[in-house]
Amino acid sequence: MTIGVVGAGQLGAMLALSGYPLGLEFLFLDRSAATPAGRFAPVLTGEFTDPALLRQLAERCEVISFDWENISVPALRAATRGTRTRIAPPLRALAAAQDRLSEKRTFERLSIPTTRFAAVDSRAALDAAIERIGLPGVLKTRRLGYDGKGQCVLRRSGDRDRAWEQIGGAPLIYEEFVPFEYELSIIGVRGRRGEIRIYPLNRNLHAGGILHLTLAPWHAPALLRAAAASLRRVLEAFNYVGVLAIEFFAHRGRLIANEMAPRVHNSGHWTIEGACTSQFENHVRAITGLPLGDTRPLGHAAMINLIGRMPPRPALLAEPGLHLHHYGKEPRPGRKLGHCTLVETSARRRDLRARRLLRRLYPQLPLQP
Ligand code: AMP
Repeated sequence: MTIGVVGAGQLGAMLALSGYPLGLEFLFLDRSAATPAGRFAPVLTGEFTDPALLRQLAERCEVISFDWENISVPALRAATRGTRTRIAPPLRALAAAQDRLSEKRTFERLSIPTTRFAAVDSRAALDAAIERIGLPGVLKTRRLGYDGKGQCVLRRSGDRDRAWEQIGGAPLIYEEFVPFEYELSIIGVRGRRGEIRIYPLNRNLHAGGILHLTLAPWHAPALLRAAAASLRRVLEAFNYVGVLAIEFFAHRGRLIANEMAPRVHNSGHWTIEGACTSQFENHVRAITGLPLGDTRPLGHAAMINLIGRMPPRPALLAEPGLHLHHYGKEPRPGRKLGHCTLVETSARRRDLRARRLLRRLYPQLPLQP
């Protein structure tokens, strides 16, 4: 069986690496074959919206998935029309996650607590949103934002002109600023017959809007129950197939949903070495109709993203028990080039080692909580 994947980045590469042992084949579509997944599998190269390439993908694969969100829903739908090729996760879920406004409305519809928000499509609408929601707030582009790109924090009334100048050309959303204590995410998988498996909570530490460190399992039983209930609601509402992640702010003992990702997620990379079945293998199992794997953790994992510049391999591999994933990408400031994972016997040892390693790799890093 061949799995088609739109996007050949590191997430696609890790999907392929988890699917090969199961005897599955992969075919990717991306603008270039010099991509992380291109090192392991063939890539159809061209625009993501190219109807002929998408059609080829649909004709050569039994199922099509994607490794990032910013792809065209209508183009993908048109490519599979009249074929027996399935698309998973469902395009309805992809469409909801592509637009921060429909994402927030989905959370509201499913009674999942989220930030207060307002759509902003004019300067007057921004003033009205600030009037209603107050300051501080975060103005974000509705589409194409990732890793904190396309957003501005507004602290005082005078910030609105600068924010409007920076991103005012696109449809926007204004959100209340949440003075969260920390950030969490939850990842789960739903199979074709509706079965659901959920991984433990991830505690995520960001700097400059980019994830730097994930600690999992994060022990917070009440928050885990709340996060898992929200995840189930989304999985069921979309009749979802595959892996889904939801990111939350933890504030005063409550969870506030920030966004969802209809795909494997950076905060789940630790599951490769730290869980019975990785998120990648479970995604592949789900979309091909195979039984889902056990999501139990095998220890206490820390995952550190390697960003902007790749540390020398010997420096990393001298660290006992460290697992290195080098994506083979050209270094560029802010770019995720790889990650490494430690699995420890206790949460205390894990937290100590992870923070020590992070300080060694990024001495200047101002980590958010
Ligand atoms: P996002 O692209 O929505 O994931 O935002 C990137 C990062 O910006 C988040 O991980 C938070 O650290 C921060 N952030 C985004 N939205 C808010 C908000 N409404 N309140 C406080 N911090 C936010």
